[in-house]
Amino acid sequence: MLVQACGANRWLWNWALRYREDVWLAAKSAGATGLVGSVGYNHLSSLLVGLKEQYPWLKLAPHHTLQATLRDLDQAFSAFFAGRAGFPVYRRKGDGGSIRFPDAKQVKLEGDLVFLPKLGWVRFRRSRPVDGKIRNVTVGREGGHWTISFCVEGNYTMPNAGCAGIGLDLGVERSVAMSSGEYVSLPVPSKREDQRLRRLQRIISRRFKGSARRRRAVERHAKMKRNLANRRKDAAHKLSTHLATTHALIVIEDLKIKQMTATAAGTVAEPGRNVRQKAGLNRSMLANAHADFRRMLAYKCERSGARLEAVNPAYTSQTCSQCHYCAPENRKSQAVFLCVACGHQQNADINAAINIMTAGLAATVRGGLEETPADEPRTHPSSGKRKLSGSTGIPVKALAA
Ligand SMILES: [Zn+2]
Repeated sequence: MLVQACGANRWLWNWALRYREDVWLAAKSAGATGLVGSVGYNHLSSLLVGLKEQYPWLKLAPHHTLQATLRDLDQAFSAFFAGRAGFPVYRRKGDGGSIRFPDAKQVKLEGDLVFLPKLGWVRFRRSRPVDGKIRNVTVGREGGHWTISFCVEGNYTMPNAGCAGIGLDLGVERSVAMSSGEYVSLPVPSKREDQRLRRLQRIISRRFKGSARRRRAVERHAKMKRNLANRRKDAAHKLSTHLATTHALIVIEDLKIKQMTATAAGTVAEPGRNVRQKAGLNRSMLANAHADFRRMLAYKCERSGARLEAVNPAYTSQTCSQCHYCAPENRKSQAVFLCVACGHQQNADINAAINIMTAGLAATVRGGLEETPADEPRTHPSSGKRKLSGSTGIPVKALAA
């Protein structure tokens, strides 16, 4: 039943996406973009009854989950129109899929049993306590496994014993370099794991589409990718929790600015750095790890009361952290920094992390003294209402002196 419900939701997502895409393209060519707003959630959910008549198997999915899918699509389009995300993508059958029960009133929880609309009582393994008021429930499939997650509302604070600040350089060679002189590598696949992934991929492409042998190979490949992803998420969780609970100020690079200035040949600030970043498997895995890490850091800092500051990454890699002399010649190699003015020598990523820390401290002081209209106040993309400080887009709490 869950497979059918996931399938119905996937079909509805694709159908509604095609519908909205057609309207959007027509409106764009006619120059009448006002039309786009008329095919939002309300319009599409009003078509749902007719669709169910036309395609009776849609009724196999709990009605509320279909509505939740249309709401998700609405969100995806809002993010696209606001420039926060790319155009919504079509969902493929092999991608697992998930359904969300948006109405917590229809869900009951007793021990290791959960009551879901249309499905009845379902047994699950409760891997952690569900504390707080349940808002919605998502059931999804990953490889051969079903997962259930309860979105709860509550007050979640983390202790914070730290008073010091730290700057982070999220680099390529040594994943996270810190201004304290340490660096931590977020795990990426080893050479052997990389080879095994490629071999599994080759096996898949050799086998006939639709065959049982191909399906088994796809499952083996998906399982390995999932394990690798879980491993790096685990490391990112441990590191972000540690940092958020032991520091009062954490400074990172502003990714938005970084992306804007990045080119294949490298930026003015970081010549040739991106040239080395080939579109390999490890590269994209590390990019994912960094994105996860930033996201975790953001919400954990909010919980622990640590201040998270994002600074412009320009010139952080070629400025001397000791005498602040800035020149491309300072950067002897990818790993070594040697100041041509004062002779200061250091690991290049650590030197950059110290510069990021310095810039973050300067921004903190400036933010406390004067208003800089250029980059504040900003509004958070998801809320659009909250007033925030700095260029992070992250709510800032009072910094413990
Ligand atoms: Zn120097």
